[in-house]
Amino acid sequence: MQPVTFNNTVLRDGHQSLAATRMSTAQMLPAAPILDEMGFSGLETWGGATIDSCLRYLGENPFDRLRALKKAAPRTPQIMLLRGQNIVQYASFADDVVEAFVRANAAAGQDVFRIFDALNDVRNLATAVKTVLACGKHARGEICYTISPVHTVEAFVELGVELQKMGCQSIGIKDMSGIISPMVAFELVKELKRRVGLPITLHTHDTAGLGAASYLAAIDAGVDAVETSIAPFANGTGQPDTVRMLALLKGHPRSPQFDPDKLQELRVYFEDVYKQLGKFTSPANERVDSDILIFQVPGGMLSNFRTQLAEQGMSDKFDQVVREIPVVREALGWIPLVTPTSQIVGTQAMMNVKFGRWKMICQPAQDIALGKYGKAPGPINPEVLAQVEKQSGQKTVTERPANLLAPAMDGLRKQCADKGLPTDDETVVLYAMFPQQVEALIKGGGTPPAPAPAAPVTVRSTPAEAPKASPSGTPAAGKHLVLSINGGRYDVTVEKLD
Ligand code: MN
Repeated sequence: MQPVTFNNTVLRDGHQSLAATRMSTAQMLPAAPILDEMGFSGLETWGGATIDSCLRYLGENPFDRLRALKKAAPRTPQIMLLRGQNIVQYASFADDVVEAFVRANAAAGQDVFRIFDALNDVRNLATAVKTVLACGKHARGEICYTISPVHTVEAFVELGVELQKMGCQSIGIKDMSGIISPMVAFELVKELKRRVGLPITLHTHDTAGLGAASYLAAIDAGVDAVETSIAPFANGTGQPDTVRMLALLKGHPRSPQFDPDKLQELRVYFEDVYKQLGKFTSPANERVDSDILIFQVPGGMLSNFRTQLAEQGMSDKFDQVVREIPVVREALGWIPLVTPTSQIVGTQAMMNVKFGRWKMICQPAQDIALGKYGKAPGPINPEVLAQVEKQSGQKTVTERPANLLAPAMDGLRKQCADKGLPTDDETVVLYAMFPQQVEALIKGGGTPPAPAPAAPVTVRSTPAEAPKASPSGTPAAGKHLVLSINGGRYDVTVEKLD
């Protein structure tokens, strides 16, 4: 049996999970050559929240980071996390923007693209996968793991088959909440190996303390790769630490070999970086907490909730709101909770508690019900859907959501030119997602823009004095909320549904 391989996540998910994505390129570069010579099968260095963080907090061009890391670690494939049609944002982008993003990224040195959709609607992965393949790079189709009555091993395996048909060269199981149990990990890997026959990677978090045990079970079932990090950017809400995982595999026929002295060198180095990022770290992220298994929501979501509810003066409603989450998930077709659906379901759960169940439905939740994010895994609650259709005057969208979006690159390029910004693809695709931050970065000559609120998710009610267009273009008549997700502003309109 082949040894299992480890991908290392310290330069992306490790610090995203444990230090609010604040590790700078300067803090990464000294470790990159060491990480490169370890024998990891991949280094996850890009995507997820890192692009946002580079632009918003660190005053860095994310493409420059990728090039610098590629130069410092040329031998190990670089992996990025791509949210399908959402790229690295929360809304859908037109196909030509997704294509330009992938091409620019491939040209800058990206090797492996982990591509997922929050609803597991494979149509939202199609453009990204096709473009990655056209660039001669590796497309890893991700299955977002969640627990619900419609998420059976069989359903996940069917999804794996779909991803294979689409041309993905490998399959990832993305357990963003760290809730996959060893038995399920074993069964799912075994069935995927049997039915799909592509290399399988398991990605989990140690939030509830299951991560390392689930990796071990997956390795016994024949998984090809698992993802580990380097402590202290590991364990807790992050990936299991590489050293711990190796200890767990001691004597196992599939254990990989790593130089313990070099691992220790990395540990000592990252210990220092962790101290430098002290104000972004938190004991709540470091500890193992089984709450997540009861509430079945991503760890970050629970801590965000506490902040969000405090701001709304609803701290005493915490239990009620978390109990409302499964109600909202069920009504919206049991959607997995991952960016951006975790934020949307959380907001709606809060609104159900605050205003009464389904009395007010936030715009993104309406859009999910109407199929604008794609097809939900289960049926939408017919009563909720009827309310949304009546209120919005819109019907359910059944086609691929991006079919409704006109090509946007030419218009965006013109906007960049009008603002005196460069008009190359790298700038334009970043501008498409983070217009103010890109402008501030380029015109400010690298000075970080003013930091956004520290709380990753906040919701504030504001008077509807200046109604803005909702994401679907309908003028907002009702209450206007400004939702800030990881510092990114998100205009949400809510309308009373009687
Ligand atoms: Mn993750």
